[in-house]
Amino acid sequence: MKFDTLIIGGGLAGLTCGIRLQKNGMKCAIVSTGQSALHFSSGSFDLLNELSDGTKVDNPVAAVEKINMNHPYAKLGSKFAYYAGEAKQLFADCAIEVNGDAAHNHLRITPMGTLKPTWLTFSDFTPLSSASDMVGKKILIVNMAGFLDFNTKFVADSFEKYGTECRISSVNLPELERLRISPTEMRSTNIARVLDNEKTLEALIKELTGQISGFDIVVLPAVFGLSSAEPVRKLKGALDIPVWLIPTMPPSVPGIRAQQQLRRSFEELGGVYMLGDTVVKADFKDNKVQAVYSVNHGDISFVAENFILASGSYFSNGLVAQQDSVVEPVFGSDVDFTPGRDGWYDKSFFNKQNYMTFGVATNDKLQVKIKSEIQQNLYAVGSVLGGSNTIHEGCGAGISMLTALYVADNLING
Ligand SMILES: Cc1cc2nc3c(=O)[nH]c(=O)nc-3n(C[C@H](O)[C@H](O)[C@H](O)COP(=O)(O)OP(=O)(O)OC[C@H]3O[C@@H](n4cnc5c(N)ncnc54)[C@H](O)[C@@H]3O)c2cc1C
Repeated sequence: MKFDTLIIGGGLAGLTCGIRLQKNGMKCAIVSTGQSALHFSSGSFDLLNELSDGTKVDNPVAAVEKINMNHPYAKLGSKFAYYAGEAKQLFADCAIEVNGDAAHNHLRITPMGTLKPTWLTFSDFTPLSSASDMVGKKILIVNMAGFLDFNTKFVADSFEKYGTECRISSVNLPELERLRISPTEMRSTNIARVLDNEKTLEALIKELTGQISGFDIVVLPAVFGLSSAEPVRKLKGALDIPVWLIPTMPPSVPGIRAQQQLRRSFEELGGVYMLGDTVVKADFKDNKVQAVYSVNHGDISFVAENFILASGSYFSNGLVAQQDSVVEPVFGSDVDFTPGRDGWYDKSFFNKQNYMTFGVATNDKLQVKIKSEIQQNLYAVGSVLGGSNTIHEGCGAGISMLTALYVADNLING
C-alpha cells in the first residue's frame, strides 16, 4: 500500500495533520489502534494556561514569547498565533462548533463544578469570562436518575462557593429504564443514544419545563448529541432559561462526536482511516523510513514518502515507561527523559510530575531522532512530543493541533 504520507495514530494530532495534508492534495492514510484522548475530553481545548515557572497566562499569544526553548511551541517560531487561528478554522470546516480566542483564555466549568482557564470550548458548554458571572444566580441542577458519572452534590458545593443558590433535582424517563436495570449500562454515551430520539428528548423537555420555574439557569450533564449537535440545539432552544451542560466523567459525548466529525472530514477529503490496527515496526535505509508494518496487515507493508508519528503519550502507548527508561515502541525513536526513576515522579499526586515532560526527541522541524541521527522523512506531532507538562501548563490540545499543522505545512511547502 502506497501513500504520500502515512500517519500513525488517529487522535486530535493525527487527524488535524491528515485533514491539512488531504486538503492540499496529498494522499494520506491514518492507521490507529483505538480510542484517543478526545474520547475523554473535558469539552475544552487548552492552548496555554501557565508557563513552566508557574506564571499564570491570560493571553497565550503574548505569553508564548516567554516559553522555554524545549517546549514544542518554541519550534513554531513566530507562527504560534497563525496556527492557533488555523486550528480554530479547521474545527469550523469540520462543523465542530467552538467558542474562544487565542489572545484571551476564558473559564470552563469542570465535571466537579470548578472553573478552569481554557482556549476553545465546544458550543454545547457555557464559557464564562469570570467567576462573578455566577454571583446571585438561582441554579437548578438536574441529573438523570441513576446516572453516577455526574456528581450533582460536588457541582452544587462548588457553585455555591461562587455565590450561587443551587437546588438538586432529577428526572426519571421510562425510556431510560432499560439502561437503569444494569448500572454499567447507565453511561453517558448510552444515555445520549436514548436522548437522540426526538420523542424522548421532547419528553425530557416537558419534564424540565415543569421544574425550572423560578430559576435563572438549569444545569444538566453533557449527555446530548452523540452523532450531531442537533439535540443540544433543540434542548437549549426549547427552554425559557439558559441551559448549562456540564462535562461528565468519561466517556465524553461531545469529545466522541468531535472525533467522529474529524474522521468524517478526513475521509470526505479522500483520506484512508484504518481503525483497529497497530503499527509495530519499520524498515529504514540511510536515515529514511522505507516502510512500516502493522498487526492486521502482517507482511504487507505501508510505503510512503513521509511518515508521521502521532501515537500520543503514555495513555495511548505512544510512550511506554519501562523499569529505567521510557521508549517509543514503533520506531525506537530517541526519547528525552531524565535517568533515575526516582526523579520521574513526585509522591504527592497533585504536584508536577516530571515524567509528563518526557517525549520523542526531534529537531526544529519536528523530524525524529534515532540514535541521535535525524530521520529525514519521519516526523512527530502531538502528545508523543516532550518538553511540556500538558496538565500543569494546560497546553495539550494546542500542542496536538499546532504541531500537526506546522509539520503538514512543511511537507506541503516541500
Ligand atoms: C485522558 C486524557 C484526557 C485529556 N483531556 C484533554 C482536554 O480535555 N483538553 C485538552 O486540551 N487536552 C486534554 N488532554 C491532553 C491531550 O493529550 C491532547 O489534548 C490531545 O487530544 C492528544 O492528542 P494526540 O493525537 O496527540 O494523542 P491521542 O489522543 O492519545 O491519540 C493517539 C492515537 O494513536 C493511537 N496509537 C498509538 N500507538 C499506535 C500504533 N503503534 N499504531 C497505530 N495507532 C497507534 C492511539 O490508539 C490513539 O488513538 C487529555 C489527555 C488525556 C490522556
